[in-house]
Amino acid sequence: MHFFKPLALASALLLSSHVAAQADRNRITLAVHGGSGTISRTTITAEQEARYRASLEQALRAGHAVLAGGGSAVDAVVATIKIFEDDPLFNAGKGAVFTNEGKNELDASIMDGKTGLAGAVAGVTTIKNPITAARAVMEKSRHVLMAGVGADKFAAAQKLEIVDPAYFHTPHRWEQLQKAKERDQIQLDHDGKPKTSAVSPALSEPFEAWMVDHKFGTVGAVALDANGNLAAGTSTGGLTNKLFGRVGDSPIICAGTYADNQTVAVSATGTGEFFMRGVVAYDISARMRYSNASVNHAVDQTIKATLSDKNGRGGVVALDKNGIVKYGFNTEGMYRGAIRADGKPEVLIYKD
Ligand code: ASP
Repeated sequence: MHFFKPLALASALLLSSHVAAQADRNRITLAVHGGSGTISRTTITAEQEARYRASLEQALRAGHAVLAGGGSAVDAVVATIKIFEDDPLFNAGKGAVFTNEGKNELDASIMDGKTGLAGAVAGVTTIKNPITAARAVMEKSRHVLMAGVGADKFAAAQKLEIVDPAYFHTPHRWEQLQKAKERDQIQLDHDGKPKTSAVSPALSEPFEAWMVDHKFGTVGAVALDANGNLAAGTSTGGLTNKLFGRVGDSPIICAGTYADNQTVAVSATGTGEFFMRGVVAYDISARMRYSNASVNHAVDQTIKATLSDKNGRGGVVALDKNGIVKYGFNTEGMYRGAIRADGKPEVLIYKD
C-alpha cells in the first residue's frame, strides 16, 4: 500500500498541473478597438463595413496566434497593433492623419501589467511601426516617454524599421485635412466671427466644433496571456488638423493606455484632451482596485464621469484579469472586437 501512495500523489499532482495549464490556455483573450465616433449604419457603406470587419478580424487573428503559441500579452499586443499600423484604413502608422502643417506625427504606447513597466513615443515621423518603438522604450531604455526627433533617433539606433515621412502620406487623409481646413473657414465666415485659423480655434468654441468627421481611427489592443499576464497598447496619428506638436492621450500612460495584472488592461480612443484630464485608463483600474468594482461598472462610471458629463467623446476597450472584455463608449459606434481561446473573432461596430 505504501508504494502506491506516493504514486497516487504524484499522478494527482500531475493531473492538477495539467488541469491548471489547460485552464490557463483556455483563458487567453485579446480585445481591440479601431477607433470610435460617428459610426452608424447610415454613415458607412456596406463595402466600408466589410473592409473594416476584415481588417479587425485579421488583427485579432494575428494576436490570437501569438497567445495560442504561448506568446506573452505584450507580444500579442504588438503583433496586433502592427497589423493595424500597416493598414491604411486606421489612423495609426500608414493611415495616420495630418497635422495642420500637412505632416504626420505619430504617437504610441504600451504597458506590461506583469512588471508595471511602460514605454511610449510621441510626435514621431519616421518610425514605420510606432508601437515597436514604444516597446523598445519600455524594454531598452530607462525612460517611459520619448518624443520627436530624439524618439526617432532612438528607434533607428534600436534598428527598428525607419521610413521616409512620405510613407505616411495617404490621399484620403490628405483630403480630410483639406476638408477640415475648409470647414473651419466656412464655419467662421458663416458665423461672421473674426477669422481664426483651425490651428487655434477660439477657446470658447466646443472642442467638437473643431473636429472633422467626428471619427477617431486610433487603434488599441489589450491581451491576457496563458500565464495570466495583462498588457495594453495604443497607436495613433492623433487628430486631423491638430496643431503641430500637439500630443494626445494615446502615448500618455494612465490616460490612453494602462495595464495592471491585479485589475485590468485598458486602451482608449477619443478626444485625447478629455482622456488626459480624466486620467481615464487609470481611473478604470483605480475603481476596480480601491472599491472592488467590476470591469463593467468601472468602465461605465469612468466614461460617464470623465467624458459624458464633460462633453468629451470616445471610448475604451478593457480586459480584466479574469478575461472579461468590456467595450465602453459614448459615441454612435466603435470599431471593436475580441478573440478567445476558441480562435473565433467577434467583431462589432455599432452601438446596437
Ligand atoms: N485619442 C487620440 C488623440 O487624441 C485620437 C483618437 O483616439 O483617434 O490623439
